[in-house]
Amino acid sequence: MTSSGTAPTTDATAPSLNRRLIVIAGILLLAAVTIWKAADIARSTAVDGARETGRERLALYDSTLQAALERYRYLPFVVTRNNGVNELVSRGGEAGDVNLYLEQINAQAGADALYVLDANGETLAASNWRSDVSFVGHNYSFRPYFRDAMEGKAGSFFAIGATTGEPGYFLSWPIVGTEALGQADKILGVAVVKVDLNPLQQDWRDGGETVFVSDSNGVVFLSSRADWKYRTLGALTPETVERIRRGRQYRGIKLQPLELMPVTASSAAAERPGDGGSQGQLRRFGGTDYLLQSRNIENLGGRLHYLSPLANVTARVSSVIAIMAISWILLFFAILFLRERRLKAASARRAREAMAIEAVNRKLQAEIEERRRAEGELRETQNELVQAGKLAALGQMSAAIAHELNQPLAAIQTFLAGSRIFLKRGDSGQVEENLTTLSRLADRMGAITGQLKTFARKSEGKLAPVVLQDAVADALALLDPQIRLDAVEIVTDLPSTPVTVRADEVRVGQVLVNFVRNAIDAMEESDKRLVTIALYVTEQTAVLSIDDVGHGISDENLAKLFDPFFTTKEVGEGIGLGLSISYGIITDLGGSLQAENNPAGGARFTIRLPVLEQAETALSGFAPAGTGT
Ligand code: ADP
Repeated sequence: MTSSGTAPTTDATAPSLNRRLIVIAGILLLAAVTIWKAADIARSTAVDGARETGRERLALYDSTLQAALERYRYLPFVVTRNNGVNELVSRGGEAGDVNLYLEQINAQAGADALYVLDANGETLAASNWRSDVSFVGHNYSFRPYFRDAMEGKAGSFFAIGATTGEPGYFLSWPIVGTEALGQADKILGVAVVKVDLNPLQQDWRDGGETVFVSDSNGVVFLSSRADWKYRTLGALTPETVERIRRGRQYRGIKLQPLELMPVTASSAAAERPGDGGSQGQLRRFGGTDYLLQSRNIENLGGRLHYLSPLANVTARVSSVIAIMAISWILLFFAILFLRERRLKAASARRAREAMAIEAVNRKLQAEIEERRRAEGELRETQNELVQAGKLAALGQMSAAIAHELNQPLAAIQTFLAGSRIFLKRGDSGQVEENLTTLSRLADRMGAITGQLKTFARKSEGKLAPVVLQDAVADALALLDPQIRLDAVEIVTDLPSTPVTVRADEVRVGQVLVNFVRNAIDAMEESDKRLVTIALYVTEQTAVLSIDDVGHGISDENLAKLFDPFFTTKEVGEGIGLGLSISYGIITDLGGSLQAENNPAGGARFTIRLPVLEQAETALSGFAPAGTGT
């Protein structure tokens, strides 16, 4: 049962192993894709959030910057409307009043410095005329804000002060000549206000965020991070460097590029020059990812930048990945657990079934044992019955046997008496003759008792080749006293070739004795007493028939003939076991038994037994020794 059970299991494991691998690979792939997708979504949502905030911050910072400058934008214009100033730039002369005027206005406005240049860029008057770093007398024609104003435009420019060394934002306005002065529409000079953006920058720094402003050349001039000030956003061309040098914009400062690297090639490629920049670009600085957003500053020509650290984005993505991974692992283990439980349940069920089968098997086994034992007992009983039958037969035969033994005994007595007389006469020759006769008689008696002993012997139940002719002869020899007593004629029709069957010699003998005895009994009342024993072989079967000329068997009795204890004989004459025992013996040997009436009106009993092959006979080491009759 075990071996037949394992064979299909091993056959089934190969495809199921493959299938399991495919399923696991599928789950892993699905897990990887979902984790990747979730991370992507988490990242883009977080970046979107940062972008939205960044856009708002940019607008806010822009407005603070605009507000800081707007306060002063009108100042140069106001200065150009002053008669004293116009007078000064158009005709020259004393700047004393103009100096005072500028000083007063500037004190009121709170700018860094307010000053007036002539058409050559020479400072004619300045609010700081009293100080050590007075602009008066300095020439600022190199400054772009001067040149812009001289071209009739409002100028704006961030630079480090050429005189003070202090950075500032310069706003300029052209001073246009008037009709009254006879110099209509001619630009006579420039009014400039220098705004100190340090307080604004300080505010930004205090805010703790990263915001900075670059000029049109990409040089950072305002920054909430001190170390980013005067760094460039990209490499400067030699022309730009030269222009900056000429404008003395960042005098004495070495402009170094700011290493804000694009995060990936694709994000770098996605950046379009001239793009508003408020969408933002991913940048890496000092190992951290940032979202860089920028916008142009109106009326200023520079750009405002806002940098959002994406550290919390990374953290969020990491936690989403972790949650997804843990979920997947939990799911995987849940699947494994459920699967395991199902397999366990299945194997428990199989075990229960196996146990049930085992129990049934054990019961069957027990039943088989029981049958075997019963069969053994039955056989034993049968043996005993056979023995009982034999003893019964002996009992019934005892009269005939006694008679048979009495005859030689009587003869012996006669011969002994005769011998005495011959001895007295001294006729030793006659005595000698009598002794020979006596010895023959004793032999005859011995033969009779010997046969009785053989018949009464208990069978050992061993099967061996038996020559049927011999068995018939033995049976007839045993029954000889009875046959002679009842004057029964025996006719045998036996083939000359020995017919051998595999049988228990003693039992076959018993069957034959039984049949012949029954035949003799059936002819008790008959005048003619004839038993015919015939043997022939057909289709490997030995057919042995015993016919008598007795009263035969009625149809009613024919049906019950082989039943144990069925007898029609008087009490003490028969016990009704002979035929049933014979039936058992012959069927045990694989043969059959048949009872019928013959044409003569008597009974015919036919025994059929399989013939032992010649080869089998040789194998059993048995050499047939000719027929018994
Ligand atoms: P028993 O001889 O002790 O009666 P058997 O089993 O040998 O037991 O025989 C059963 C019965 O079968 C006999 O009583 C008899 O009626 C019948 N029977 C057996 N042999 C013959 C026969 N040759 N002719 C007629 N009847 C027979």
